[in-house]
Amino acid sequence: MARDSAQREVLVQEQKYVLARVAKLEAQLEALIRTRRSESDDDEHDPEGETLSSQWSMLVGLLDAAREDATLAERALMRFEAGDYGICQLCGQPIPIGQLEARPFRESCVSCPR
Ligand SMILES: [Zn+2]
Repeated sequence: MARDSAQREVLVQEQKYVLARVAKLEAQLEALIRTRRSESDDDEHDPEGETLSSQWSMLVGLLDAAREDATLAERALMRFEAGDYGICQLCGQPIPIGQLEARPFRESCVSCPR
């Protein structure tokens, strides 16, 4: 697999992007926690409770996915440093470049079950 710096640059950029997404979602969750807290302060009647909790589960879901991507990004960079980036972790074959371009952090080729 080509260990060219352009490929590494893509991974670093993607990782930055993913980490920014994690940070943004964390901030949104924190804001939601503050909203909840200030609302439970004044009364028990909570017309927005339902909205807040569905927003909450949506954000938690997105944050989980973003954190998973961040882990994958880190592992992809570690594999890059180790020289086996772009090798399917399941069958040991090189992952076609088209598949890597679509998902730079992928760890297996489309022929292998995840
Ligand atoms: Zn494979």
